[in-house]
Amino acid sequence: MNFDIVIVGSGQAGFQTAASLRQEGFDGSIAIVGDEPGLPYQRPPLSKTYLKEGVADRLYFRDAGFFETNRILLEDGARVASVNRHDKQVRLEDGRSFGYGHLVLATGARNRRLPIEGIDLDGVVDLRTLADADAFRATLPSVKRLAVIGGGFIGLEIAATARAMGAEVTVLEATDRLMSRVVSPPVSAHFLEAHTAAGIDVRLHTMGSRILGSDGRASGVELQNGDIVAADLVLVAAGVVANAELAEAAGLYVHDGIRVDDVMATEDPDISAIGDCASFPFGHDGLQTRLESVQNAVDQAKCLAKRLTGKPERYAALPWFWSDQGPDKLQIAGLAVGADQYEQHSAGDGKLTVLCFRRDELIGVETVNTPADHMAARKLLASDTPVTLDEARSTGFDVAALFRARKG
Ligand code: FAD
Repeated sequence: MNFDIVIVGSGQAGFQTAASLRQEGFDGSIAIVGDEPGLPYQRPPLSKTYLKEGVADRLYFRDAGFFETNRILLEDGARVASVNRHDKQVRLEDGRSFGYGHLVLATGARNRRLPIEGIDLDGVVDLRTLADADAFRATLPSVKRLAVIGGGFIGLEIAATARAMGAEVTVLEATDRLMSRVVSPPVSAHFLEAHTAAGIDVRLHTMGSRILGSDGRASGVELQNGDIVAADLVLVAAGVVANAELAEAAGLYVHDGIRVDDVMATEDPDISAIGDCASFPFGHDGLQTRLESVQNAVDQAKCLAKRLTGKPERYAALPWFWSDQGPDKLQIAGLAVGADQYEQHSAGDGKLTVLCFRRDELIGVETVNTPADHMAARKLLASDTPVTLDEARSTGFDVAALFRARKG
């Protein structure tokens, strides 16, 4: 079978590419090949509301009728094994081959597997897919003691939910603060206090050296200092790695993701890559960056759909993220990597706004329970004229006031 466009991966980015192509008026044939079974779905609720409510219908982007109406062939439960760039074909594991005019790699990422003893024991789990979330939900009500390896977004979201459901929860974080890769020190401190107040035992500077078991089932985590954290379920939430092997085997350049340029093109003009699997040039410095977020997957898909329908534009969308941890909603606008100064503005009631500066220029704003500041920050950061430290100081680092002043 031949298709004008073949999309590998039926996640957020793959689905959005097909939908946006049709919105942009693309009339050719489209196939999505995804190795997960069923309709494409969103992942964020898996570690949030879905754990509590378990309503799968709310996860799906669209029902089966959408794919039929839009003439999008969805080959679910089918894995692409290789790409033959010479013949412009992908070969599926089941032996079929699909020819492509243009190939979109939207293969996402998978959870990092820790190379420690005991990782294969029953009762050691991770969470990336709907199937993982269903398995986790099924065990959660009977879990008395949960150990979470990794104090990042997903580990903390699940820790807060499990704690609210009555489990004793210990979070083991190797670095000196929570979510250290993605948020500022004041936001890390806010969440350390919040999770500790909720009764979660958060241990910083702490690494598990092996997972202990009895009768083939996890019974706890031994720490590097010899201490033991007892647990009947161990969740590994230690980050992800890009699914880039398919591209690498096809001879494309891969370095922490599939390398693309500012229009999401690989070095092969007939192959693009988007979403969690793609490393793209970011910001003024053009530093190759790989982001793991819904915004990034959706906006890169839209950008690509425009190019494939003859309306090319550089990818320059402002990154933004969110994470719901217990009652707290964290929202991040911009990318605060390399920030050298943080200024916080706190309105009380668990509300916090942190402005992140690099070389006197505002590069990111993190807010907790302050959605209006988040929206104002997105507009400020997307503006062509950067906000300076002096300008922000003149409003007492109040994002809403800054935004009003700019609007004049
Ligand atoms: P994916 O969604 O990973 O989709 C890629 C798909 O490709 C997968 O189905 C994969 O199995 C498939 N695939 C890979 N290789 C092949 C192959 N060879 N053949 C066929 N199929 C293949 N982001 C936020 O912005 N906010 C949040 O609150 C948030 N919460 C999250 C919570 C959880 C539990 C998880 C797991 C992620 C969360 N994210 C969140 C991240 C967000 O979901 C991802 O950034 C987004 O899903 C990326 O979309 P993607 O299409 O690039 O990759």
